[in-house]
Amino acid sequence: MDLLLLGPPGAGKGTQGARLAEHLGLPKFATGDLLRDAVRRGTPLGLKARAVMEAGQLVSDEIILGVVRDELAKPAASRGVIFDGVVRTIPQAKGVEALLAELGRRMDHVLFFDVPDEELLARLERRRTLESRADDDPDAVAVRLKAYREQTAPVLDWYEQRGEVLRVDAVGSIEDIATRVHEALGIS
Ligand code: AMP
Repeated sequence: MDLLLLGPPGAGKGTQGARLAEHLGLPKFATGDLLRDAVRRGTPLGLKARAVMEAGQLVSDEIILGVVRDELAKPAASRGVIFDGVVRTIPQAKGVEALLAELGRRMDHVLFFDVPDEELLARLERRRTLESRADDDPDAVAVRLKAYREQTAPVLDWYEQRGEVLRVDAVGSIEDIATRVHEALGIS
C-alpha cells in the first residue's frame, strides 16, 4: 500500500507516520528527514538544500523527484511506502504519480492532517525548544506556512478531485489521533 501523509508543518505527520509504518510493516519515507540528514553530513545534496531549508522555503521539484525515484528503487519499498510530507507541489504530485505508475502502482490513500493555525504555531514553538531545528524559528515558520498555503494546499485539492483523500482531525492526544487514523484507513 502506498500512502501519502499531507498537512501543514507541525500537523503530526512524522509522529503518526512512524506509528503507522510500524503497524503496517512498511517503510516511512520523509523527504524532510532525508534532507536534514544530507545537510548534517554535508553531502552534495545537503549543500544544495541547506540555505533553502533554513529559510523555510521548498527545495526544487527536480531534487525531490530524484530522491523519491531513488527511494522507490530500494527493495524495502517494493510492498509500498508511507510518504511523509513528500508531495508539496502539484508538479511533485504529478511526478510521484508517474514514478509509481512505472511500477504499476498508485497512491492508494492520502491522509490529510487537519490542524488550525493557532495550534500549529504553538506546536512548532514547542518543537523549537525541544529539537532546535533552524527552520522552526518564527521567521522560517512564517515562510513555511506561506509555502504550505500557496504551494501545498492546492495539492490537497488535486488529490480530492481524484477522490483519494481521507481527512483526519489531528487535534488531541497522539493516541486519539492514531485511533482516528486507523478508523479513516479502516484498519484495526
Ligand atoms: P519537514 O521536516 O517535512 O518539515 O521538511 C523540512 C524542510 O525540507 C522543508 O521546509 C523544505 O525546505 C524541505 N522539504 C521537505 N520535503 C519537501 C518537499 N517534498 N518539497 C520541497 N521541499 C521539501
